[in-house]
Amino acid sequence: MAHVVVLGAGLGGTIMAYELRDNLSRGDRVSIINKGSKYSFVPSNPWVAVGWRDRESIEVDLEPACKKRDIGLYPQGAKRLHAAHNRIELTDGSFVDYDYLVIATGPELAFDEIPGFGPEANTQSVCHIDHALSAKAAFEKLVAKPGPVVIGAVQGASCYGPAYEFAFILEKALRDAKVRDKVPMTFVTSEPYIGHLGLDGVGDTKGLLESAMRSKHIKWITNSKVQKFEADKVTVEEVNDDGTTKTIHEVPSAYTMMLPAFRGVEAVRDIEGLTNPRGFILVDKHQQNGKFQNVFAVGVCVAIAPTGKTPVPVGVPKTGFMIESMVTATAKNIARLVRGEKPNAEGSWNAVCLADFGDGGIAFVAQPQIPPRNVNWSSQGKWVHAAKIGFEKYFLHKIKSGMAEPFYEKLALQVLGIDKLKAVKFDD
Ligand code: FAD
Repeated sequence: MAHVVVLGAGLGGTIMAYELRDNLSRGDRVSIINKGSKYSFVPSNPWVAVGWRDRESIEVDLEPACKKRDIGLYPQGAKRLHAAHNRIELTDGSFVDYDYLVIATGPELAFDEIPGFGPEANTQSVCHIDHALSAKAAFEKLVAKPGPVVIGAVQGASCYGPAYEFAFILEKALRDAKVRDKVPMTFVTSEPYIGHLGLDGVGDTKGLLESAMRSKHIKWITNSKVQKFEADKVTVEEVNDDGTTKTIHEVPSAYTMMLPAFRGVEAVRDIEGLTNPRGFILVDKHQQNGKFQNVFAVGVCVAIAPTGKTPVPVGVPKTGFMIESMVTATAKNIARLVRGEKPNAEGSWNAVCLADFGDGGIAFVAQPQIPPRNVNWSSQGKWVHAAKIGFEKYFLHKIKSGMAEPFYEKLALQVLGIDKLKAVKFDD
């Protein structure tokens, strides 16, 4: 009988454990190792940062669901993976042995790569619920004493949708507070153009997002590298296509929120053959590591090559839909290995995203991620905001109830109105 351990209980790891439970036999053990026993729905953090959600409304206690699904839960967190010995050292000094491991540890936030960056220094963040709650306190100060705002994503980031989302959500919240007229907004991004999203655009995301920003009076700087963040300004180097300096901007800012670059978490970093130089897990089309063949990975911690060369480094986003496809493939492949068969399931890795703007939004579907594509569609409307709320409620219910079916895919396609894909623009 096998013991399968899932390391990390975020969006990918939690459903990973549930799907493993469904695919393995009763005698097999499934365990989760996480930092804490709560699941937190990261996509709602931008709403938390303007006070539209609180911690309680987006967190789920994993203990009851794990008990119901017969899944072990180690909330101590991992100190170090010892892949050569099939064991994980926990932060309290104890060890957990495994037959198969799925790494789902998400990102470590690389704030230390730019001076003055991060919630411990001069900027806000929506990457973690604790950061989003601090960002809310800073938002309240901004409303009381309005000043300029900088939102965006720095060099090497791979998560652009939430930066756009937060710019528009903050814009709406400032309008609601009747202080928008006193807050000049600038969007600063490493993308070569607005709407690139790390995917070289999807459908007409360039046109849609530029138009939305123009209509909301949000200025932008693309091809940018942030040099430093200070309490009252952001120093940004804008580069030419050949990477040479075009302009140095000193953008005044009373409130700054930029998405950082990601890297792999310390517990799994620098393991020869397992990770790339930034600590992301190397996997093949079956989500399986080549050197440690009993180790799989899903979610943001997986190494994915950029879509192409850009003047400033831009990473590929890993969205929920894509992560779910990785999870389903991994559950099937581990079950096959346990039965003595070879892995054969492959995730689609398609990018589907709902970017909420507070009262509307933009949705896109990219199949495959890298153009040219078979499906290359984006659209906007008030329905996106409603769909995002539906997605949040549905996903939290799924985590709470221990449901294993990969309904995210079905739901996403449903809320996106898959029939709208008849209007799909084919690239070639
Ligand atoms: P996470 O959800 O971050 O989970 C990682 C887990 O691993 C955490 O529970 C963490 O505590 C745990 N962990 C880390 N280190 C250790 C350790 N040493 N020991 C034990 N546990 C550990 N995607 C969408 O499709 N739609 C969206 O609207 C969307 N919005 C987003 C908004 C924001 C602000 C961000 C940052 C991302 C968003 N994404 C969105 C992208 C993506 O879906 C999320 O980042 C998602 O949470 C990634 O899931 P994950 O499982 O890879 O990582």
